[in-house]
Amino acid sequence: MFRCAVDPFCGSRFRFVSFQLQKESADMQFKDKKLDRNAPCWCGSGKKYKHCHMDFDEKIREFEVKGFIVPERKLIKTPEQVEGIKASAKINIAVLDEVASKIKIGMSTEEIDRIVYDTTTKMGGIPAPLNYEGFPKSVCTSINEEVCHGIPSPDVILKDGDIINVDVSTIYHGYFSDSSRMFCMGNVSPEKKKLVDVTKECVEIGIKNVKPWTCLGDMGNAVHQHAVENGYSVVREIGGHGCGIEFHEDPWVSYVSVPGTEMLMVPGMCFTIEPMVNMGRDDIFQDEENGWTIYTEDGLPSAQWEVQVLVTENGCEVIAY
Ligand SMILES: [Zn+2]
Repeated sequence: MFRCAVDPFCGSRFRFVSFQLQKESADMQFKDKKLDRNAPCWCGSGKKYKHCHMDFDEKIREFEVKGFIVPERKLIKTPEQVEGIKASAKINIAVLDEVASKIKIGMSTEEIDRIVYDTTTKMGGIPAPLNYEGFPKSVCTSINEEVCHGIPSPDVILKDGDIINVDVSTIYHGYFSDSSRMFCMGNVSPEKKKLVDVTKECVEIGIKNVKPWTCLGDMGNAVHQHAVENGYSVVREIGGHGCGIEFHEDPWVSYVSVPGTEMLMVPGMCFTIEPMVNMGRDDIFQDEENGWTIYTEDGLPSAQWEVQVLVTENGCEVIAY
């Protein structure tokens, strides 16, 4: 599930708030308490700061001085937090595997919701979307021209030729994970199949472009380029987000971005890569009745895959898919 700019709850203010938070976080790094060299490191390693994250913090500060938007310390996951997020992600992956093994033509999206709820709770987790800002179900199921936030219903039956995104998010011992997959039902048209495949490639390109000490805008632009090269567009108003300690954390992650802009990626950051790729134009609108579901304006299909990544020293580790 994603952070959006058109949702009434996370609202048009979302992007703005996110931008503001990023601005604030630029100042925050200086406000993050400067530790004494010999104090225990903030990451909980038990090592002295000078032998642990002191150089790392200095490096972030150098980027900040050069004008980059840098993450504040709370966005850098400690080893303990990484463990917790990975445990949560294990459930998220298992839930999507379970959906993958059972999803079929003739099934209602309500049944998918049941599979998600049952599998998550059996493993000790909580479906994060359930009651999130009033969302009524445990999962988002978005079919064809639905871009995202489709609400499971007994009245929505999967048909031959449908493409569906199933977006699962889990809370486990207070840690959050988030990923989504596309499923092609039966005889999907070559056009739709290509959209699904190219969108997956976009995510793979995103993963390859997560490099520490480069900007999120570099990654987002690479994703966008691939979609555009294939004749598609990418939704602008809705993007990815930091995830782990909260469902939606900073940074907001755009896939229509300019290289060299947006937040600096540094090891320990955890966020989602989840472009919404439209076959036609990027314009979208929201369901006025349910207040959630987003559709393409032109009625053409939209696809999305989502992974959650942890930035490492060399690139990133995919922790939920
Ligand atoms: Zn440390």
